[in-house]
Amino acid sequence: MDKKISWMSCVCGKKAYYEENLRFNGYSIDGWKCKHCGEEYFNPGKAEFILLLNKIKKKKYNLKLNRVRSNLILRIPKEISTVLNLSDSTILQVSLEKGGILLTSPLPSETKTLDFPYLPSDTKTMTHSK
Ligand SMILES: [Zn+2]
Repeated sequence: MDKKISWMSCVCGKKAYYEENLRFNGYSIDGWKCKHCGEEYFNPGKAEFILLLNKIKKKKYNLKLNRVRSNLILRIPKEISTVLNLSDSTILQVSLEKGGILLTSPLPSETKTLDFPYLPSDTKTMTHSK
């Protein structure tokens, strides 16, 4: 979060220094590492985000369609919209893919507020298959 913190006290009593690229659950995030004992302290905001992302990636959602006049409305669960930074003005692209419907967010500017450049490209997509 705050990259100005160049070091923090480690549990072992030495100093853990800031590093750009620590490995956390398959992702690269910043944090602080103690060279003395090897303890790592991850950027808490990003670590929390990755845990939520991994949790969502393991899940399959059953979403019910609702009808509003001639259109069918798909409700995106809150945890998905949080992770993908979707809002009620987000534009999603819908395409038919093998095995289901693919929803993608085609505008990179919408992902900027995530401040998280380490996302694999497939995390902006959701598939719906029967
Ligand atoms: Zn230490």
